[in-house]
Amino acid sequence: MTRVDQDADGVTLTAKDTATGEVSTVRARYAIGADGGSSSTRAAVDCSLLGDTNDVTWIVIDCKVKRWWPDRDFLTFWSDKERPVVDIALSAGNHRWEIPLKPDETPANYPTSAEVWPLLKALGVTERDVDIHQHAFYRHHVRMADTWRRGRVFLAGDAAHLMPPWAGAGMQTGMRDAHNLGWKLARVITGELPESWLDTYEAERRPNAAFYTGLAVQLGRVIKQELSEEEQAAMNAVPQDTVTPFEPPLIAPPVLEGGWIRGPLGDASIVGRMIPQPIAGDTVGRMGRLDDLLGSGFVLLGADVDPAALLTEQEKSAWDALGARYVAVRPKTAYTQGPDELVDLDDVILPWLSRYGVRAVALRPDKFVAAADVSGLAVPA
Ligand SMILES: Cc1cc2nc3c(=O)[nH]c(=O)nc-3n(C[C@H](O)[C@H](O)[C@H](O)COP(=O)(O)OP(=O)(O)OC[C@H]3O[C@@H](n4cnc5c(N)ncnc54)[C@H](O)[C@@H]3O)c2cc1C
Repeated sequence: MTRVDQDADGVTLTAKDTATGEVSTVRARYAIGADGGSSSTRAAVDCSLLGDTNDVTWIVIDCKVKRWWPDRDFLTFWSDKERPVVDIALSAGNHRWEIPLKPDETPANYPTSAEVWPLLKALGVTERDVDIHQHAFYRHHVRMADTWRRGRVFLAGDAAHLMPPWAGAGMQTGMRDAHNLGWKLARVITGELPESWLDTYEAERRPNAAFYTGLAVQLGRVIKQELSEEEQAAMNAVPQDTVTPFEPPLIAPPVLEGGWIRGPLGDASIVGRMIPQPIAGDTVGRMGRLDDLLGSGFVLLGADVDPAALLTEQEKSAWDALGARYVAVRPKTAYTQGPDELVDLDDVILPWLSRYGVRAVALRPDKFVAAADVSGLAVPA
């Protein structure tokens, strides 16, 4: 992609085939710049990448494993003020080490694997253990685009946000961007949803990207032993007396802080949360992951009640217009009673709804709760 032009009706992308030099254009209603941290789409639509880049250069060493060693399957952060080491068991027989260069070193000190070996040997890793198959250099960025949308052009992934790799969350954050934008764009293009829905993309994704960026920065400070005692105590503190059971932030599913939702947010509210993913059964005896049984559209889910029965006529027709399904979740000890019901085989869905004191929730296609009966099941604005 060498050029992005947009007008009132669409986007024209100019591409140059890097092998043949042939230039072509593509016309589309919308474009997504998913072209990484140095995104030329971002520059083409005049977005700025705000934030900072740390001046420490890191070397990342990728190896093929030749023999097993104790704890080879562990992801280990070797905590050290001078030279912390990230030691990552990867899949398919690969292992990676990430090490900061010393202030007087530059990538020029490591032109080939021969110069890289002493770094691994200092960690006790030898030619008997691994083959080095590549090494590269990078710096830690804490940056975000000032806007993720300019007209018909969206930014996603590293083009929109860059975080240090400590939390292993950069790509996941980009995948969540792609999913969030994907299901909305698909429905806007077919006319099922109005164009204004696309504004919820950044409203929903930016806080989550900012959360993981902050988390990655904090984890880096832990590993580099930069936290004060007070900060360490605050980080270790497990919140008490919460409705939502505490899960470490890296494991806890994301929660929406705004966007296409209705109702209060916070610990005691189900709104903005993602439904759990247990095994459920359907009325013809199939068992599967809840996601698969719910399908990819809007679903109202009732706790042992038909959720449609809890809606006014007006609310029902607004959900009908979005193609919503109405599904009652039954306990596994009961017979199902109608065609659109699910059985809570793992005994997870009904207790989850009950914990937040709700009888029914409205789920978006991405399985976030958009609304609940306690705060109103009308279609969010
Ligand atoms: C050392 C390191 C470790 C990491 N570890 C993790 C981890 O454990 N877990 C995790 O979730 N994330 C991790 N990340 C982050 C992760 O790699 C990135 O967040 C992710 O790759 C971003 O994906 P992306 O598709 O947005 O961008 P990229 O992966 O950068 O892909 C962009 C693509 O666009 C192409 N492109 C660029 N410009 C153009 C153009 N003009 N025309 C056509 N194509 C173009 C590029 O060639 C590239 O293929 C790590 C990053 C680093 C540096």
